[in-house]
Amino acid sequence: MDQEIKIVLTNTPKEKPDQNHLGFGNYFTDHMFMMDYIEGQGWIDPRIIPYQNLSLDPAAMVFHYAQEVFEGLKAYRAADGRILLFRPDENMKRMNVSNDRLDIPALDEAFCIKALKELIKVEQDWVPSAEGTSLYIRPFIIAVDPSLGVHRASHYYFIIILSPVGAYYPEGLNPVKIYVESEYVRAVKGGVGFTKTGGNYASSIKAQSKAEGMHYTQVLWLDGVERKYIEEVGTMNVFFKIDGKIVTPGLEGSILSGITRKSSIEILKSWGYEVEERKLSIDEVEQAYRDGKLEEAFGTGTAAVISPIGELNYNGDIMPINNGEIGPVSHKLYETLTGIQWGKLKDEFNWVQEVK
Ligand SMILES: *Cc1c(COP(=O)(O)O)cnc(C)c1O
Repeated sequence: MDQEIKIVLTNTPKEKPDQNHLGFGNYFTDHMFMMDYIEGQGWIDPRIIPYQNLSLDPAAMVFHYAQEVFEGLKAYRAADGRILLFRPDENMKRMNVSNDRLDIPALDEAFCIKALKELIKVEQDWVPSAEGTSLYIRPFIIAVDPSLGVHRASHYYFIIILSPVGAYYPEGLNPVKIYVESEYVRAVKGGVGFTKTGGNYASSIKAQSKAEGMHYTQVLWLDGVERKYIEEVGTMNVFFKIDGKIVTPGLEGSILSGITRKSSIEILKSWGYEVEERKLSIDEVEQAYRDGKLEEAFGTGTAAVISPIGELNYNGDIMPINNGEIGPVSHKLYETLTGIQWGKLKDEFNWVQEVK
């Protein structure tokens, strides 16, 4: 499929927000990409149009049964002015993994990357250049048939919106305090934990509020069956450095296969670290802490890149990690990933694509 993308430009461009006070996901650009899926016709009518409200029937399926998927990636402004994407092919591949599980028709990944690049070219002035800022990209699909039956839809929208976002750590890379959640769970094998679909996040909000109420930044999720094995931290994958080795939970169906996770593993291995992807129980982490072998812990994800963990609270048992300071491996990984993303370091792994 290489359909022509129709472009309709806005007559009323918005004023650009102050790059030093962007926050996350508060501002949206002047245009969006959109296409329809119609049963029998496939994905049709790709178009770049002025950013606008959607008009949906109140019975639209997405409102009732949450048949939807999304992705998240960023465009980065290099010092020489180029606009760079980090492994966008991985996001589109993962979107089709989510689509398959939600029974949403697959997208043509190469075409979607082309459409994304076209949209960013239209919006190039919206890619911020202040230190640490980027353009967050949110592709998503929703089922729009007006029908209350629980079944596969025959009409979907695929939409890409763009949001200039601020530095995740305006005051530097500070370790966060994490509450180990042993009551609520995020996902179980056989469910949708490995996909980016809205329901996973809707069901996580209550635990997040509970953690925030106790002055913790995020929750550490345990497995949905035994509440014993570590899964993820908030909406990030999680890594531990224990006795010199790096350990991260394996991809067994209930956790999201993060692109930052995958990239971190490849970088850590290239530095000679042993990286174990396996089951890791909270008891093993607690034991390592008692033995003085819990050296570092960090989350990985597109938004924060690397989020060092300075403290864990498991049922009231407080475990400070590396004296609440960022560890050397977490720090070097952050510098390396962000260096590649912003085009400051040589892209040895061939991960970066220029928008041109
Ligand atoms: C998006 C996400 C991640 C991180 O994935 P990246 O591709 O690294 O951004 C991890 N866990 C969950 C639950 C997520 O939604």
